[in-house]
Amino acid sequence: MDKDIHVQRTLAIIKPDAVNKAEEIEDQVLRAGFSILNKRWVHLSPEQCSEFYSDHSSKIFFPSLVAFMSSGPIVVMELAKENAISSWRNMIGNTNSEKARAEQPDSIRAKYGRDEQCNAVHGSDSELNAEREIRFFFSRSVIEPIPIGQSAKDYLENKLNPTVLKALTQLCKEKPQDPVTWLADWLLANNPYKPLVNSKVNVIEA
Ligand code: GDP
Ligand code: MG
Repeated sequence: MDKDIHVQRTLAIIKPDAVNKAEEIEDQVLRAGFSILNKRWVHLSPEQCSEFYSDHSSKIFFPSLVAFMSSGPIVVMELAKENAISSWRNMIGNTNSEKARAEQPDSIRAKYGRDEQCNAVHGSDSELNAEREIRFFFSRSVIEPIPIGQSAKDYLENKLNPTVLKALTQLCKEKPQDPVTWLADWLLANNPYKPLVNSKVNVIEA
């Protein structure tokens, strides 16, 4: 039996001090095996930054953090991977870029950050915060477990395979010139999820 893998999502931000390295950082994200599910360039207002960092509103550095985060555009990415939250936190390193340089010299903050505030990137710190932060930027993104392993197999077996099997059987019988378009047309015409439009239905006999 397949072992279910725990695919998680997390929110990554390339902060204003590192957007000039955005391509380089995105490259490292992809090479580390993350999928980028959503991506946006945005320039947040101070009010939006205050809301995003509301957990830190009592901290002495809060006004300075808000000013920094609203000082220019940022790149926001919804990432997915097995254990994405801890994996991305490990990859970015210590909050303080100087400590990151001492302790995790290969980390993103070590490479691109300057100090404890201008630290190049953000990463969610828990599942609850990841969900809140992803909704903050991508409100239409559906937060639910991605079906993989056995649950993906079950989903395909129940919802798709019976129809696809019928389609492929018919395709082999007919051997059309353009099998891809034929298959697409057949699936549209025989979609079991489409309400059946039949003129005989709803006809009331006199
Ligand atoms: P993170 O989860 O590693 O990003 O760190 P926190 O959640 O503790 O802090 C949020 C952000 O506030 C950090 O990424 C920094 O940009 C900033 N920050 C954290 N600590 C300090 C600090 O001591 N001074 C200043 N100026 N900024 C800080
Ligand atoms: Mg944090």
